[in-house]
Formats: sequence, structure tokens, C-alpha cells
Amino acid sequence: MSELLIKNGYTKADDHSNADICIINTCTVTSTGDSKNRKYINRVRRENPDCIIVLCGCMPQAFADNSELFRDCDIVMGNTARRDIVSVLQDYYACPGQIIRIDSHQKDEGFEPMEISSFEERTRAYIKIQDGCNRFCTYCIIPYARGRVRSKPLDDIKKEALSLAKNGFKELVLVGINLSAYGQEFDLDIKDAVRAVCQVDGITRVRLGSIEPERMTEDVLSALAAEDKFCPHFHLSLQSGCDVTLKRMRRHYDTAEYRRIVEDIRRMFINPSITTDVMVGFVGETEEDFRASVDFCDEIGFARTHVFPYSRRKGTAADKMDGHIDEREKRRRAEIMIEHTVAEQRAFMQSQIGLTMPVLFETVDKQGFFEGYTPNYTKVKVKDDTLRGGESVDVKITEAFDDYCVGEVVR
Ligand code: SF4
Repeated sequence: MSELLIKNGYTKADDHSNADICIINTCTVTSTGDSKNRKYINRVRRENPDCIIVLCGCMPQAFADNSELFRDCDIVMGNTARRDIVSVLQDYYACPGQIIRIDSHQKDEGFEPMEISSFEERTRAYIKIQDGCNRFCTYCIIPYARGRVRSKPLDDIKKEALSLAKNGFKELVLVGINLSAYGQEFDLDIKDAVRAVCQVDGITRVRLGSIEPERMTEDVLSALAAEDKFCPHFHLSLQSGCDVTLKRMRRHYDTAEYRRIVEDIRRMFINPSITTDVMVGFVGETEEDFRASVDFCDEIGFARTHVFPYSRRKGTAADKMDGHIDEREKRRRAEIMIEHTVAEQRAFMQSQIGLTMPVLFETVDKQGFFEGYTPNYTKVKVKDDTLRGGESVDVKITEAFDDYCVGEVVR
């Protein structure tokens, strides 16, 4: 949206307080997200009463009939009309008054034709290659906000990757709502998208955003392992390490299937990292279920885990289930789970000491350390005045902390 506006003569403001138009692109995955969205709308209105507030994204799309949410916004667009931002603003200037453009998702709608050629980060760029989800996990509002699976055609992905490479980006991250479902409408899968961007000159690293344990077959993983530019970091969504809870969540795998994928990854890739998301306190989760989930996380030994308590979302199947757990108990379970997963994270960081890995340097921190990431997405800091941003250099890891490692350049 920013690129579309800039192409049409708009300029970017430094801050919402001095902007003529403030676009708030919302996430609605948790109720905390919704409450942050509402607070931010109020803050913008208070600090800049005359600006045009454009609200878009998943919150208005999922809750289109709750007009109270949009009362203070001038333009409300959901997810489907964002590419029309320039013409919608023209309509508003021609005839001021609230505009609401929330079109429902259609079963046969195509991939939103929007692309990005530049990012504020200098080395890493993101290409959205997939949208929507057909899964309907019982806790999740996303299929309602994002519609059904649709994928960016391979030629468009290549075109976008080429333009990003021309603009100096070296690392590409392919992202989507349910990335593992990429290409299912065209009989393609995620390996085809990875191959396409790996072929682009100038791109030296290709990563995947968060993936579901869906379609992660031996065949797909071995094709990814054969790509030199592919980075072995898998953010493989788990949600629960208890089979009973996974069933109630209507997830599409069990722990045995998940374990099989982890074993394949560890067998096929050199020094991979596996990170995940885990929910605690899902509806009906007993103490025994919770303990099973903790034990499974300990067994896998994730390099990093995002732990979050179940968030009740109106309109989902889980909202209507019996057995909701009170907030205090959810917090207690989250603390226990975090304690376990942080121990695993430390063990992973320690396991990197002594290894030599290429680090693509990006920024310098306040203490003068150059920061960058290894292929398995370990953050590495190095003190060396000869380094430059955008450079990939071999580094031997000498120390490990909770969130990063320190190393020395190997010349
Ligand atoms: S697969 Fe992911 S996006 Fe789809 S419904 Fe389940 S949690 Fe939501």
C-alpha cells in the first residue's frame, strides 16, 4: 500500500502525529491484538484529530458487522480492497464521509496482485506467496479473515524476486498464512516456489516463514535440502504436544507425524534449527494433557518457542466448547512451559559454540557489534571494524547467550 501511494505522489510521514492519512493495518489473531488495535485507533484520533484514518486488514474483515469497532475511522477496507487504496482515497477527498469497503472473500478469488520492491531492512526482503487457509482449526479466526487458500503464480514470484535482487536484497523470506499449502490449486508445492527464487542471480539466501506440518513430505524436504541457497531454519507450528488436545483443536497431525518431520529435517539438513509456537490452556486441556505437551516440547528440543495462552475468539468452534480455563491458570501453564522451552533454547545456543558458519551482517548495535544471522537463523554479534553491512563472512562461534551468540571472523 505504501508503494502504491508513493508511486501516486504521496510521501511518507515520520509519525502518525504529523500525517494527513494514517493507515492502520490490523491483525486479529488474538483478542489482545484487537484491544491493541482499538487503543491505537483512539491514540491516533486523540493526537491527530484531523487526519484521515484508514482501517484495514483482518480485524474489520473478520468483524465486518461490528460497526462500533470502526466508529472513529474514516475509511474501512478489510483485506480485499487494499490494492484500491489510491482510488478509495480519491473518492473520500471528492466526497468526505465514512467509506466502508469490506467485500467478503469468495471461494474462487485469485491471489491479491500486490508486490513490494523495497523494505526498510537492507539485506532481507519478504515475498508474500500465499494467502488464506482451508483448515478451520477450532481456535482460529484466520480462515474467516483471510478466505480460502490462494497462491501467487510462480512467474509473479520470480518477477518480484528479480526486482528485489536488483534493489540489492540478498536474502528472501517466503511468507504466507498457511505457507505449506502453497500452490495446491495449481498442483505445485512449497519446493517449487523455493526453487524459483533460488534461481534468481543476486539472491544468496532463501528462507521460509512459519509453516504448518502439512505437506512436509520426505520428497518436499529432500528437494529443499538440495537447494544450496535454502536456509535450514524451520518454524514448524506445533500448538500442542498432546494428541488429545491436537484433536480438539482440529489440527491435522498428531505428535508421531510431527516427530517424523523433525527427524527428517535433522537427518537431511546440516545444523538445522527448529522453532515453534505452542498454545497453553486450550479449552478442555487437563493437567495431564498440559504435562504431555511440556514433555513433547522437551523431547523435540526446540531452538526457540513462542508460548502463548489460548485466546478466545468469537465466531470460532472453540468459543462454544465447554471447559474454558481461567486466565490465572493459563498464565501458570505459560510460565511453566516458558521455563522448559527457555532451557531448550539455551541448550541449542550452547550447541553452536565451536561451529563456523557464514553470517550475513545487517546492522551495528549500540556497543559497536556487527549483527547478522547464520543460515539457521542464529543471531551472531562480532566486533570487527573491517566488516560492512550486506556482507556474508565465515564466523567461528565462541560464546552463547540466551538470544544470540558471539563469534570471531575466520579469514
Ligand atoms: S492452519 Fe493455521 S491459519 Fe489455518 S486455521 Fe489452523 S491455525 Fe488458523
